[in-house]
Amino acid sequence: MSRFLSAKYASLIPYTPGEQPRDMKYVKLNTNESPFPPSPAVAAAVSREAGRLNLYSDPECTLLKASVAEYYGVQPENVLPVNGSDEILYFTFLAYGDDQNAFAFPDISYGFYPVYAEFCNVPKREIPLKEDFSVDYRDYLGVKEHVLIANPNAPTGTCLTVSQIEEIVRSNPDRVVIIDEAYIDFGGESCVPLIQQYENLLVIQTFSKSRSLAGARLGFGIASEALIRDLNTVKYSINPYNVNRMTQAAGVAAIEDDAYYKENARRIISVREETATRLKTLGFTVLPSTANFLFAGSDRIDGETLYRELKARGVLVRHFTKERIKNFCRITIGTPEQMDILLTNIRALLDAKGNATI
Ligand code: PMP
Repeated sequence: MSRFLSAKYASLIPYTPGEQPRDMKYVKLNTNESPFPPSPAVAAAVSREAGRLNLYSDPECTLLKASVAEYYGVQPENVLPVNGSDEILYFTFLAYGDDQNAFAFPDISYGFYPVYAEFCNVPKREIPLKEDFSVDYRDYLGVKEHVLIANPNAPTGTCLTVSQIEEIVRSNPDRVVIIDEAYIDFGGESCVPLIQQYENLLVIQTFSKSRSLAGARLGFGIASEALIRDLNTVKYSINPYNVNRMTQAAGVAAIEDDAYYKENARRIISVREETATRLKTLGFTVLPSTANFLFAGSDRIDGETLYRELKARGVLVRHFTKERIKNFCRITIGTPEQMDILLTNIRALLDAKGNATI
């Protein structure tokens, strides 16, 4: 830290992103990326746009907004494209949080939520997950805070139903309810249609997971016109050109090639179910997942050892040090071949400990 850093940031603990190694070829199952490349139409659209990079991007993202709006059955005024869904989460804390307006979210969820709360000086209430690691929607009915829930939750993968979310939204008419649907395309049901009825609901999605665009940085919010206007006020006060030209073009092309991504999601779901079964056969506890990852742990090997030993063997998964989940690892679903490598290595590890069942 230099002597110039503002005192208000002196004790800030920033978010730690998952490892993005460049030194060795890993089977990379640690940051919930898609194992599939973007569709060829996306690459073509990006290279067309590359020749126009001398010009600023459209700050309104007009074409992209129109195509997202049409796909989700809303109006362009209900859509705000952003530089990765992380950015709209940040805008949300800035727009709605202050010392009188706290945020409530699950104690085990996306690690960026408490970081933004701290950074934006917004009080937070972290509500414990249930014994089985599920979110109990009843904990969020008629609360004093704005509500922020990842659905499916991360890193656990469990999902609430649309009617449970509707109850949360209805019971908090004077609070904003933010539903982070980063992983919704892997088996959950989106609550986007509820925005037509509830002015206090903000749904956040990303192109980083099911649409294979993590490196392009593209997310979006869908909400009532009033909420989108608030978030635009913040955006235009920070960075009007937040979504670059190539990314806007990539987003439009991705939505047009929907069949490609639907098929990829279907394959990921099927590999997920098969991997869950195989992990259970090896004695792992595996939470039910509607995401592109599994959250798994075993009494036979602690989470940190599993993470370290797999890394030494060239397989990267994600481990969290929080007490209640420190015996688990979050494993991104890759190709069947990648899952075979993962499981072969886990079996070898358990064998080496004299613990394998098969
Ligand atoms: N929400 C959740 C629950 C996530 O897991 C992630 C990805 N790590 C994000 C939001 C952010 O995704 P992105 O900024 O790539 O859109």
